[in-house]
Amino acid sequence: MSNERESMEFDVVFVGGGPANLAGAIRLMQLAKEKNMNLEVALIEKGAEIGSHALSGAVMNPLALKELIPDYAEKDCPIEATVRDDELYFLTRSGATAVPFIPRQLHNKDNFIISLSRFVRWLGGIAEELGVYIFPGFAGKEVLYGDDQRTIIGVRTGDKGIGPDGEPKSNFEPGIDLQAKVTVFGEGARGSLLKEIAAKLDIFSGKMPQVFETGIEEVIQIPEKNYFATSKGNDIHFMGYPIGLGVPGGGFIYEMKDNRLTIGFLTGLCYRNPMIDLYETFMKFKLHPFVADIIKGGKVIEAGARVVSTGGYYSVPKLAVDGGVFIGGSAAMQYMPGLKGIHVSMKSGMLAAEAIIEALEKGSFNQETLETYPRLFDESWVKDELYEGRNFYQALSKTNLSKIIFLGTQYVTKGRGLIDRMPLEEDCKTLEPLNGTPKETQSNFDTKAYDGVLYIDKLTSVYLSKTKHREDQPSHIIVHDTNLCVTECYNTYQSPCTRFCPGKVYEIELDEKTSAPQLKLSPSNCLHCKTCDIKDPYNNITWTCPEGGEGPGYTLL
Ligand SMILES: Cc1cc2nc3c(=O)[nH]c(=O)nc-3n(C[C@H](O)[C@H](O)[C@H](O)COP(=O)(O)OP(=O)(O)OC[C@H]3O[C@@H](n4cnc5c(N)ncnc54)[C@H](O)[C@@H]3O)c2cc1C
Repeated sequence: MSNERESMEFDVVFVGGGPANLAGAIRLMQLAKEKNMNLEVALIEKGAEIGSHALSGAVMNPLALKELIPDYAEKDCPIEATVRDDELYFLTRSGATAVPFIPRQLHNKDNFIISLSRFVRWLGGIAEELGVYIFPGFAGKEVLYGDDQRTIIGVRTGDKGIGPDGEPKSNFEPGIDLQAKVTVFGEGARGSLLKEIAAKLDIFSGKMPQVFETGIEEVIQIPEKNYFATSKGNDIHFMGYPIGLGVPGGGFIYEMKDNRLTIGFLTGLCYRNPMIDLYETFMKFKLHPFVADIIKGGKVIEAGARVVSTGGYYSVPKLAVDGGVFIGGSAAMQYMPGLKGIHVSMKSGMLAAEAIIEALEKGSFNQETLETYPRLFDESWVKDELYEGRNFYQALSKTNLSKIIFLGTQYVTKGRGLIDRMPLEEDCKTLEPLNGTPKETQSNFDTKAYDGVLYIDKLTSVYLSKTKHREDQPSHIIVHDTNLCVTECYNTYQSPCTRFCPGKVYEIELDEKTSAPQLKLSPSNCLHCKTCDIKDPYNNITWTCPEGGEGPGYTLL
């Protein structure tokens, strides 16, 4: 056992192996090659491999890909299908109506349907060929600051081999200090390090709150003779049932290769009814007769969940600080009207790379120099797309007729609508107390529907996400006050964590003798979706990275 902490020095360290950071690392190496610069660049990913934590729809606008890797086809970019046409349906409890008018932002013809997991593995290979040192299985656990306590100088990866009592075990390996001239944070929606930086450096000051939707998704193997053989479109979107128009969100089904499809349902975390169960909402969507007909005869082969950042333009933080830049989903890069984040996340990474090259040439890594990145952002098509959607999620969060009026006026005024800079409410503040009587519940779901094949329960879903965590380690999910859970939260909201977590991490058990509620925590079921860190009404839950290499093992999502 060695307790000595290693330290390694790089020019640039990327934290996270998603599309944003991989595109950023590739662009950086391309520019370095053009300028004959020799760079030492590292990228860490908390998943066991690049792609094992990547989950997304995903219909990708190929704009950023074509700019980054123009010969992507010759390089065998893994594309599941090209969108031939779009279908949009409004669902009632048992009916489905094709929406005759599909907003232009949702016209996806010629966009690519991808598995994000496969796509980022491919990007990872290209980054590696260009000389990026890729370290999967390493979680950035702590931000390193210089003597002034404000300049970011790298990250410390998590220790490995800590026992449940917090003491090092015989196989203990201390985390490594990865020092860098510039650290790029691309942790995706609700980055845990970004949250820490925000508290210290106030990067969200004057911005709208970060808001999110949780998406639960599966890949289903379908019979050879299936819906897509005769359908008009192969990217299908749904609104309405089961969440109605009062909560943002909706469903999707996209065609994949080899007689597979991906199906998912996103629910806006601004929902007010504490009885909403996100997993059962997804099941109800799948059981809707119209949807059930599309997936009939199928078998779920992979499952998972993840939050997506939905605040958009007015939620984008300060993008550069001394020694660090923020890109992708963790910096709210999401084109909301088109329901897409991959291409804008990639482009934000590419723009950051241009700014970093300039900083390396100047030998200056302070905020002022790195502000070339937000300047390039302002001049790019990413800004135009985000700006068009600047009030979109706010309008989606409205109910009934006002939602239609706000969205309609934004549609004809390039996003301005009736009110510009419409306010957003933090997701942790929206639940309404039950006041003793549970509201009309969304969790009146009949579990008899589970057949273990096409309709699977939460634990089977966790199993099919291939999630693994070593059991004998301290919980990576920190519940600050467990007493609050079984008193105030239980009485006021009936423990919403048991319903917003799609992984069965949280359960309430009643004591056999006293019937007093007790919280049972199973962090090993955690899908790393981060919903709990966002939606808990008391901010009583903090999600942290477990040991690197743990969590889901996605290969198809
Ligand atoms: C259900 C769903 C459907 C979606 N559908 C679409 C779609 O159809 N089209 C579209 O364009 N977009 C879609 N999106 C959005 C899209 O997935 C995101 O915008 C995009 O993945 C953001 O890329 P990113 O690189 O910023 O973050 P991510 O893709 O989240 O990648 C971040 C990576 O960083 C790693 N990481 C995080 N923290 C650390 C740490 N501390 N240390 C080390 N590694 C870390 C994570 O494990 C992850 O691999 C969807 C999202 C969801 C959830």
